[in-house]
Parts: sequence; C-alpha cells; structure tokens
Amino acid sequence: MDNIRVTVWGEFRHEKRNPKVAAVYPEGMHTAIANGLKTQAGVTVRTATLDEPEHGLTQAVLDSTDVLTWWGHTAHDDVKDEIVERVRQRVLDGMGLIVLHSGHFSKIFKALMGTSCDLKWREADERERIWVVEPGHPIAAGLPEAFELEREEMYGERFDIPAPDTLVFVSWFQGGEVFRSGCCYTRGKGRIFYFRPGHETYPTYFNPMVQQVIANGVRWAYQPPSPKVVFGNAKPREALPAQA
Ligand code: ZN
Repeated sequence: MDNIRVTVWGEFRHEKRNPKVAAVYPEGMHTAIANGLKTQAGVTVRTATLDEPEHGLTQAVLDSTDVLTWWGHTAHDDVKDEIVERVRQRVLDGMGLIVLHSGHFSKIFKALMGTSCDLKWREADERERIWVVEPGHPIAAGLPEAFELEREEMYGERFDIPAPDTLVFVSWFQGGEVFRSGCCYTRGKGRIFYFRPGHETYPTYFNPMVQQVIANGVRWAYQPPSPKVVFGNAKPREALPAQA
C-alpha cells in the first residue's frame, strides 16, 4: 500500500483570539484534524498554518504533499495570492485537496471552482443530519446511512458551486434547510473534496464519523504519481502526404 503524505493546513487564528474556540481546540483545529488522520494506516501527517513563513506551504512542502486539507475562515484575505497560485498548480498537477467547512470561501476553493461559493448560514446550535446519498462511494466507506452532529452551524442552499462530479452527502438542519455537504470535483489531474461540517466553536473534528469522512476523502483524493503530460507542437506518428 502506498504511503499517503498529508499536510493539514489550518488558519489557526480563532484559537488564539477566542477563548471559546481555544476551550474546544486547545492545540488548534489543525492538530485535532491531524490527530484524527494519524490513527489511519498508510498515512503520514504534518501540519502547516497561516502565520508560518509562506503560510507553511513552501514549494518543497507542496512537492512532498499528496493530499492537502484546508480550514480557513477569518483570514482568507491574508493568504498571499502567490501561495494560492502555487497550491492551485499542485492541484492541477495531481495533488488532492480536501476543503473543510468555511474553506468554501477560501481563495483556493473559489479559484478552483470559478464561482462565488456563497451560501446561507446561521449560528444557532442546531442538529445537522448528514445523509449518504452515494452509498458505495469510497468517501462513504464504513458510514451508516445517516449520522448526526448534535450542534453545528447551519449552511443552506443555494450553495453557489458548479454541479459536483459526484455528490456524496446531503445535510439537513433542524431549522429546515438542506445543503450539498460532500462534493467531489476533478481539476486538471487533481481531485478535490469539499466537506461541510467543522464550525470552530463545536467539537466536530473530534467526532469519529467526521474523522472517518476526512480519512476517506484523503484516500479518495490521493493519486500515485502519473506520467508527465506533453503539450505543444507534435510530430506525426506516420509519414503524412506531401503538402502542396
Ligand atoms: Zn463556521
């Protein structure tokens, strides 16, 4: 089995400024997400955060990353455009990308989707029920037909994304809204999975089902190195008739 090299990227700002968030994630949300992945066989995990040089995403880090996970919220605009472009190129070249929760508004997700990625939202401590609508999909492996998070932020349709290649999950919220909460895409050679849950004031990333989905997403998004694609002017494979 291949070893999958995962980099868990976290904005890591709420945890430093909001005691409520720090109480839930004393070591940072990225650490909780990374610890969930570290229980998986065949996966090596490191973390990177916004305030590190180059946001922790140097070319060397990206070149040795098979799948990148992304959680950001309050500081999307602080992510440098040149780093966004560096990540985008790696995705097009085959790196997997897992975009979590408020990462829907990250520069990298919007760049790869080409739409506003806007949605409805509400913070009201309501129940989220996540339905598997594509049973048998690798990202749904080991999951029941539906599972609940007792308290989450609501995200509601319309979610302004391109139609997903595959929709794996649909969420229902106590207040009545529904949301496409597990969306698969391919851009270039790279696979992208958006997964909705994970508001910073709730212990969502400690939930075993959520951890299972993220691990499944990593396995799905991973692709072994493939031959380099050749573009440009091409010589004929057979002799062609002489041109006038
Ligand atoms: Zn949120």
